[in-house]
Amino acid sequence: MSSATEPQQHVIGIGVSPGRATGVVVLMPDPVPEPPAGTTLDPSTDGEQAAERIAAASHQVQGDLQDAGSRANGTGREVLETTAMMAADPTLICTAQQLVREVRLDPARAVWQSAAQVIDQLAGLGGYMAERTRDVADVRDRIVAALSGQPAPGVPNPDHPFILLAKDLSPADTAALDPSRVVAIIMSGGGPTSHAAIVARSLGIPAVVAAAGAAAIAEGTVVLVDGAAGTVILDPTDEQIARAAELAGRVRTFDGTGRTSDGHRVPLLANIGRPDGAQAAADAGAEGVGLFRTEFCFFDRLDAPSIADQVAHYRQVLAAFSGKKVVVRTLDAGADKPLPFLTSTDEPNPALGVRGFRTSSRNPEVLEDQLTAIAQAAAAETADVWVMAPMVATVAETEEFVGRCHAHGLATAGVMVEVPSAALQSGPILARAAFASIGTNDLTQYAMAADRLLGELATLSSPWQPAVLQLIAATCRGGAQHDRPVGVCGEAAADPALAVVLVGLGVATLSMTARALPDAAAVLGSVTHETCRQLAQLALAAESAEGARAAVRAHLPVLEELGL
Ligand code: PEP
Ligand code: MG
Repeated sequence: MSSATEPQQHVIGIGVSPGRATGVVVLMPDPVPEPPAGTTLDPSTDGEQAAERIAAASHQVQGDLQDAGSRANGTGREVLETTAMMAADPTLICTAQQLVREVRLDPARAVWQSAAQVIDQLAGLGGYMAERTRDVADVRDRIVAALSGQPAPGVPNPDHPFILLAKDLSPADTAALDPSRVVAIIMSGGGPTSHAAIVARSLGIPAVVAAAGAAAIAEGTVVLVDGAAGTVILDPTDEQIARAAELAGRVRTFDGTGRTSDGHRVPLLANIGRPDGAQAAADAGAEGVGLFRTEFCFFDRLDAPSIADQVAHYRQVLAAFSGKKVVVRTLDAGADKPLPFLTSTDEPNPALGVRGFRTSSRNPEVLEDQLTAIAQAAAAETADVWVMAPMVATVAETEEFVGRCHAHGLATAGVMVEVPSAALQSGPILARAAFASIGTNDLTQYAMAADRLLGELATLSSPWQPAVLQLIAATCRGGAQHDRPVGVCGEAAADPALAVVLVGLGVATLSMTARALPDAAAVLGSVTHETCRQLAQLALAAESAEGARAAVRAHLPVLEELGL
C-alpha cells in the first residue's frame, strides 16, 4: 500500500472493457524462440547426460501440467490433462534423445526438431489428428523453456486469481481466459478495437490497452485496474480498493426494448463470438443477434469444419434466439484472426490482403459449405436468420454474395460496411443487399489508415473521428434511398454517447457485447429522437474526434449520473 506522503504511481492507457478489479500482477511470458538450427553439444559435454536432461524436462512439464489440471475444472482440466500426457509422448522424447546421442544436437534444438517430425506426421493424417499439432507445439515450447530455464509459455496458471499483464494477446489466448481467475487484463500494446479487447469485453474482464508504462510493472505488484477510465493504480489504498469493490457490485439491467424517451424503437442486439455465449446474451435481454462472428467457432482448427460441425455450432446460437433476428456473418478470416484453412501467412499487409469475403474467390467451397450449413441450421430452428459478408468493397462483390445466398434459400442477404468504398457506394450496394451492418472497427481502421492493433495509433483509431461519422452518414443515406435498414455492430455501438449519435445519423439497430446493453439502453432512453439528430449534427460539424466526443457528452448529463 502507498504511504500518505509518496505520490501514488499510476499508468494510463485506454479502457476497453469497463469494470474495476484489484489483484496481483502476473506477467505473460514471451513466446519461446526457436533454438538455432545446428546447435550442437560442446565436445566436453556427456551425450548421455544431455539426453537425460530431456527426460527430466519432459517429466517436469508433465508434473506442472498435471498440477494445473488438478486445480482447474471442466474443459480446462481435460485440456491440461491431455497436454500433460503429450509431454511424455515416447515418440517425441525418444527421437529427441536419439538426436542428442547420435548427432550430438543440443537438447533444446533436438526437442524442436523431433516435434517438427511429429507435427508433420499428424498434419499429414488430417482431421482430428491434424488438430493435435498445436498441442504438440505447446508441449515442445514448454519442454524447450524448461531446458533453457525460461518461464513456461502461454497464460500463466498460479493458484490464485490474478491480473494478467501482457505486451499483447491473441484473440484465441483471450478467449481461453477464465474470468474467475484472470480478474483484469493490462496490455502495454494492443489497440482499442483489437479482437483481444473485444473478447475481454465480452467476457466481462476489465481491460486496459496501450498502457505503454505498464511494461515496467513488476510481477507481484498489487494494482487496481479501471477498465472504463483506462487507468492502472499501483499499490492502491484500502479506500480505493473498497470503492472499486462497491462500484463493481452495482449491476444495471436491460428490459429488452431499446427505445428513445419518445418511443422511437432502436432494437438493441448482441454480438456473439463463441456459441456458448448466446444464451447469456438472450438472458441479458438482447433483442436478437446483430453480429455472430462465426470465425470464433473455428480458431483451433487447421482444416475447414464439416457442414455437420458448423450446423451444430450455428443451431446453438439460433436456438437461444427462437423467433428473433440473428445476423450470421460468414467467416471473417485474416489479419489478427487467421484461420489456417483460409488465410496465407506470407502477405506483407494482412489487413489489406485476402481476408473476409475476399477469401471466397480463392476457396469458394468454404463459403458454399458455410451457406449450406447456415441454411440447414436456419431450417431446423425458428430464429429469423439474416446473413452478411464481411469486408465487402464493391457493388460486384455484393451482387455475388447476395446471389450465392439466394441460391441457398437464404433470402435476407446483406453486407458489412467496413471499407470506405462500400460506405461511399452504399446506394448501389443497398439496391442489391437487403441490409447493411457497419463494422466501425474496420471502417475506422481503413478510413484513418491506422492499424486497429496498434495502441500507439489509438487517437486516430476512434470512431468519433468526423471522417468516420461522415462515412456512417453516407451509408445511412444509401440505405434510405432504397428503404434498407442500416445497423452498427462495431464497438462504436457500445459507447452510449456514440450510440445516441448513430441513431441520430439514421442507424436502425445497434449491436454490442451483451454486457454493454444496459448502459446503451439507459442513455438512449434519456433522449428524444430529435435530440439524437441534433447531437449527430453537432458531432458531424466537429473538426476532431475529441471535439465531437466532448461536444456530445456535454449534452448528455445522464452519463455523469450513471458514472459512464
Ligand atoms: C468491425 O470491423 O467493426 C466488426 C464488427 O468486425 P470485426 O471487429 O470482427 O472485424
Ligand atoms: Mg471487421
